[in-house]
Amino acid sequence: MKNIIFIAPPAAGKGTQSEWLKDKFNYEHISTGDLLRQAIAEGSELGKQVEDVIAGGNLVSDDIMIALLKDTLTKLPTDKPFILDGFPRTIKQAEALNELLNEINVTDLVAIYLNIDEEEAMRRALGRVSCPNCKKGYNIYYEAMKPKVEDICDECGSKLDRRSDDNEESFKHRFETYIENSTPVINFYQEKNLLKEVKVDRESIEIFEDIVKLLSEE
Ligand SMILES: [Zn+2]
Repeated sequence: MKNIIFIAPPAAGKGTQSEWLKDKFNYEHISTGDLLRQAIAEGSELGKQVEDVIAGGNLVSDDIMIALLKDTLTKLPTDKPFILDGFPRTIKQAEALNELLNEINVTDLVAIYLNIDEEEAMRRALGRVSCPNCKKGYNIYYEAMKPKVEDICDECGSKLDRRSDDNEESFKHRFETYIENSTPVINFYQEKNLLKEVKVDRESIEIFEDIVKLLSEE
């Protein structure tokens, strides 16, 4: 299978798709957040650098991220495809990653852009509610995902939590920042003929089927 770079705005459903790809095709899911936590936990030389940077309240530099990725990717069995999640977010990172992948001879690559419009992303993110008791999730902005009785869990009758971390303002900011940074990244992969766009205003399973289809395209 092709190695995947996910370009996914907040609430585009990348988590679900990554899980399914992992389960069905044995993908290694490489999330930059996990990589950083892992490096710190292992106490490697890089991990110590990461710890210092984060303790100082700073962002981990692209150079450190690339070094971590190099370490991780070169240790992967050659027959195990990977999903890169959370990187690259900027054009500088995309260029650095490209250099790294050339250096370690990773060629079979596709950049999948999960295209979601802002309004849909907001409904997904802000409509999320869940049951504190049985953990069932709902979304108040979708007929099919609403609880039958407002604020009450269908399964166990508990009062639902409005669990979104975002309010409208902060979500909008996060979404728009993501789009602003990733537009040049999208163009970068487009120019290299590696970009595949998937519209995500549909059921997750339909999106997954599309992704699977494009992974087997030449
Ligand atoms: Zn419940």
